[in-house]
Amino acid sequence: MQHISVVTPEYAARRAMRANSDCPQLWSTLDTVFDPELPQVTIWDLGILVDVQQLGARRCKVVVSPTYSGCPAIDVISEDIVSALNSAGVKQVEVAVSLSPAWSTDLISPAGKAAMLSQGIAPPDKSVNCPQCGSEHTSVISQFGSTACKALYKCNDCLEPFDYFKEF
Ligand SMILES: [Zn+2]
Repeated sequence: MQHISVVTPEYAARRAMRANSDCPQLWSTLDTVFDPELPQVTIWDLGILVDVQQLGARRCKVVVSPTYSGCPAIDVISEDIVSALNSAGVKQVEVAVSLSPAWSTDLISPAGKAAMLSQGIAPPDKSVNCPQCGSEHTSVISQFGSTACKALYKCNDCLEPFDYFKEF
């Protein structure tokens, strides 16, 4: 499954922006915030975390983009962001939700896709491969899996059902 390591142009652009940021410690703090629906995938790896700006010694602004518009998880994510930064000594945290440009699965990092795979979730791709055996012989059981952003698939080779994180 070599496609896991492919860096998309969209992720490369995010990585470059983060590398040029003047507040690397805030980014590092935000690496402790995970997606509520994918507990091993950080909001950075999933592409939800768009930007963080230091506004003062103890003030910052965080920009997030929800995976799907109206995604209820964004409220939980916002609370987790504020909590993580508060714990790191940043007392005033503003979380702004940005809908444009829209989030897409192309923003997910290679590490994020690998983390999905390690949880038995097939990451978004052109072909849906079984996360257990890697087989491309899979078929959809339901367009809605355990959450709205996942579909339920079955592997035709090892017969295991699995969640697929839908391409978007
Ligand atoms: Zn399989």
